[in-house]
Amino acid sequence: MELCDCTAAELSTMLRKGEVSSKEITESVLKRIDEKEKELNAYITVTRDKALSQAEIADKRFNKKQKVSLLNGIPIALKDNLCTKSILTTCGSKILENYIPPYDATAVNKVFQEGAVLIGKTNLDEFGMGSSTENSAFGPTRNPINIAFVAGGSSGGSAAAVAAGETILALGTDTGGSVRMPAAYCGVVGIKPTYGRVSRYGLISYASSLDQIGALGRTVEDCAILLNAICGYDKYDSTSAKIEKPNFLDSLKKNIKGLKIGLPKEYFIEGLDLQIKDKILKAVKLFEENGAVIIDISLPHTKYAISAYYLIAPAEASSNLARYDGVKYGLRATENITDSLRMYEETRNLGFGKEVKRRIILGTYVLSAGYYDAYYLKAQKVRTLIKNDFDQSFEKVDVIITPVTPTPPFRLGEKIADPLKMYLMDVYTVSLNMAGLPGMSLNCGMIDGLPVGFQIIGKPFDEEMVLRVGHAYELFVGRGA
Ligand code: GLN
Repeated sequence: MELCDCTAAELSTMLRKGEVSSKEITESVLKRIDEKEKELNAYITVTRDKALSQAEIADKRFNKKQKVSLLNGIPIALKDNLCTKSILTTCGSKILENYIPPYDATAVNKVFQEGAVLIGKTNLDEFGMGSSTENSAFGPTRNPINIAFVAGGSSGGSAAAVAAGETILALGTDTGGSVRMPAAYCGVVGIKPTYGRVSRYGLISYASSLDQIGALGRTVEDCAILLNAICGYDKYDSTSAKIEKPNFLDSLKKNIKGLKIGLPKEYFIEGLDLQIKDKILKAVKLFEENGAVIIDISLPHTKYAISAYYLIAPAEASSNLARYDGVKYGLRATENITDSLRMYEETRNLGFGKEVKRRIILGTYVLSAGYYDAYYLKAQKVRTLIKNDFDQSFEKVDVIITPVTPTPPFRLGEKIADPLKMYLMDVYTVSLNMAGLPGMSLNCGMIDGLPVGFQIIGKPFDEEMVLRVGHAYELFVGRGA
C-alpha cells in the first residue's frame, strides 16, 4: 500500500512518530495524480507548488516538536466552490473561469490553520447543480472504480479524488445530497453536518438556506478529524450556530447497544433498486445483531420532497446567481457589445451552462408575482411538514437509516439528456437539507463491481450520534480501527 492510500488517522500517527514526512505523503499523492488524473478529471486546479511548500512548513512544525493538530501535514482537496485566496475558484462554471478570490472561506482558513496541505480544487457540477459532475464546464469526473460510470455529484471531484488516492481528505458541499451521493458512488465516507454547524462564509452560494460544507474521507474517523477542524461559530456567517462544538473523535469510542434505529417505510418502496435494498437491510441486521433496536417509522411527506426541493433550490439560485453580470467578477462578453444591457445578457448567455440556465428560469418563474404563493410559498410549507415528520420520528429513535440513492452508479451520459431522471437521484437526500439535519453516507457493499452506500440521519446538531453509529458499522465489517 502506498502512502496516498492510507487514512488521515494512520498518516497522522506515522508523522508524529517521525516515520514519514508530510513531503513524502504529498509527493505520493501528487504521483498518483500524475498517474490517474488524465482519466478521472477529479481536479480543476492542482496546487502542486503550494502543496509542497505547505508540506515543508508542516514538517518544520514536527521537527520543532510543536504541538500540532491531527491535520498537520495531511493532504486535502477542496471543492472548487470554496474560496481560496489567490487561487482560481471556478464553481465549475465558465462564468468564473478566471475568478481569483481575495480571501479564504472560513472552513478553508480553519484547515490551513491546522496545517493541512492543499492539493488542489476539485471538479463539480456547475455551481453544485447536478448529481453526476457531468454539468461541469471543465468536463465530467469519472468514477475511479470504473471510469465508464459517473462519480456522482455535485462533489464528484472530491469523492473521486479521495477514492483514487489523489488526496487523503476533501471538503465538499451539500445542498441536496452533493457530499453524500458521490461518497456513496465512489465508496468513501461523506458527512453533511447540521445546517449552521459549519460557516458558509466563502462558500459560493447555490441555495443559501440549504447549502452546507461537508467532509469526505476513507473512514468515519477521518471525517471526524476533519469535522473537528471545520465546525464552529463564525461571526462572518449569521446562520452559523452559536453552539458548543464537541470533540467528534470522542463519539467513536461509544458502542451502539440499546440505540434505537428508525427505518422509514417511505424510503424502501418501489423505485429503490432491489439489490440496494437488500444490502441496506443486511447492514441494518448487523446493527440489530449487535444490540441496536430497529423501529419502523413513517415520514409521510417524503413523497413531496423532490418537488419542494426543486422549487426552493432554483428559487434561491436564481437570486444568488443574479450577481454574475460581467461587471463584478469573472467573464465579461465584449464582442459586438454596444450597451450595458446587451453586455449583461451576453455574459450570462455565454457564461452559464444549460442546467444553470434552466434553474435560473425555473427559479425566476416560481418567485414571480403571480406564482409566488402557488409554488414557492407552498413548497416552503411542505418544507415545514417534512421537518415536522423528522421531529416526530426523533422522539422515538436516535438515528434513521435509509438509502442514499435509488440506483447504483450510472454510466456517463445515461441521464444527462433527461433532467427529471437526474433530479430523481436526489430523492433520499434532499429532505435532510430541507430539515437542516446531519447525514452521513457510508459504503455497504458492491453491486456489479460498483459501490453502494447507506445513509445515517441524526437529530439536529447530533453529528456525534451519526459518527458513532457509522464507526460501529465499520468495526462490524472489519473496516476502521
Ligand atoms: N443534485 C442536487 C441538485 O442538483 C443537489 C446538489 C447539491 O447538493 N449541491 O440540486
